[in-house]
Amino acid sequence: MTKFKDLNLSDDIITILKAQGINKPTPIQEQSIMLIKDGNDVIAEAQTGTGKTLAFLLPMFESMRADINTIQGLIVTPTRELAIQITQEAKKLRQAKSLNILAAYGGKDIGAQLKKLKGNIHLVIATPGRLLDHLRRDTINLDKLKTFVLDEADQMLHMGFKNEVEAIINQTPKKRQTLCFSATMNSQVKKLAYKYMNDPKLVIIEKEEVTLRNIKQALVETTDRRKQDALCKVLDEDNPFMAIIFCRTKRRVDTLDEALYKRGYNCQKLHGGLTQAKRERVMKDFKNTDIQFLIATDVAARGLDISGVTHIYNYDIPENAESYIHRIGRTGRAGEKGYTCLFVAPKDRSILNQIEHEIKFRIPRRILELSIDNNMKSEQKNKSSKKRYGKKINSDSNKKSYKSSRKNMKSR
Ligand code: AMP
Repeated sequence: MTKFKDLNLSDDIITILKAQGINKPTPIQEQSIMLIKDGNDVIAEAQTGTGKTLAFLLPMFESMRADINTIQGLIVTPTRELAIQITQEAKKLRQAKSLNILAAYGGKDIGAQLKKLKGNIHLVIATPGRLLDHLRRDTINLDKLKTFVLDEADQMLHMGFKNEVEAIINQTPKKRQTLCFSATMNSQVKKLAYKYMNDPKLVIIEKEEVTLRNIKQALVETTDRRKQDALCKVLDEDNPFMAIIFCRTKRRVDTLDEALYKRGYNCQKLHGGLTQAKRERVMKDFKNTDIQFLIATDVAARGLDISGVTHIYNYDIPENAESYIHRIGRTGRAGEKGYTCLFVAPKDRSILNQIEHEIKFRIPRRILELSIDNNMKSEQKNKSSKKRYGKKINSDSNKKSYKSSRKNMKSR
């Protein structure tokens, strides 16, 4: 069994990892850390949950020098949430080497941070739009960059960031190390990767290692009209500790959030239409388990590592198997058990067939006894106190604090 020591990581780094309960490398770390340390360009096909962030952060930290005042590392990610998460992981490593880290993503004013660091930045973690802004304004200079990481490359292209990514790469030195991490290696990703990479080494981590194994899957057959009642019935039966409910669009998130709130559920919404401050606040509240139900678009599905999510509900069917795996992969993490339930209307049948075919599994059907007065039952539920995984929660007071937090959020 490989140890971090075998990967030639410094004792300082190993000590910090140990303090976080990280004692042995995951397969992606085992396979890529040495390749990266040796200066290779690497294409890695690995999903979130595999430990891929540390797979590139650790060797980068080893090679970067705190005594040189230039940007030596750049990590570009498709979403702000992912940028925040990587920044948090990177900051934990600063005890081993005090590198200055700049997180540059939309919605965040980094003027003050730039001033504080007096331009002395070693590692930048950014979303494409904001980074380009800085490059245009000359507030960030990549002339001395050593390692460039493109994280979640498939998602980046899916979100239409190809031109931005190319514009960024064109501002980096030709003689750089390029690392490309992607959950899937479709032809678009490969094309982009091979265009800008120098004899890249390929690392592939089997999907089964991260997905589905610990997750109990179920499916409810319903109709668009009865979906909301079906969801509430399931939520009442499951009474999850922490759940994410996925919807297809921002508007559907808004509508469901409003409806569940009226029915007395402790919920908040997360999608790209919210201000950055709101998004961060919601994520924080969810991580602190102040919110039981997070209603989200796929923005939340990618990359987020929120421990403790016990249930994933696909209120709207994801567009393909890949997206299904990503969404449900937010639960059942770190060896814990997870549960997921998918709501399927008749028009979703063909996508469902495709998903079941690709995951090679017929998702067990869950039968609900839905009565017309489910709404009323839901109302009654609010009036009584309820027990959530051994934690007594009074729904009324819950609702109140939720209301005031909503007010606060609105007032910002
Ligand atoms: P990622 O795939 O980068 O999103 O990582 C998922 C989670 O796994 C993060 O919370 C990491 O802190 C954690 N992690 C990363 N590497 C290891 C490891 N070698 N052992 C245990 N947990 C790890």
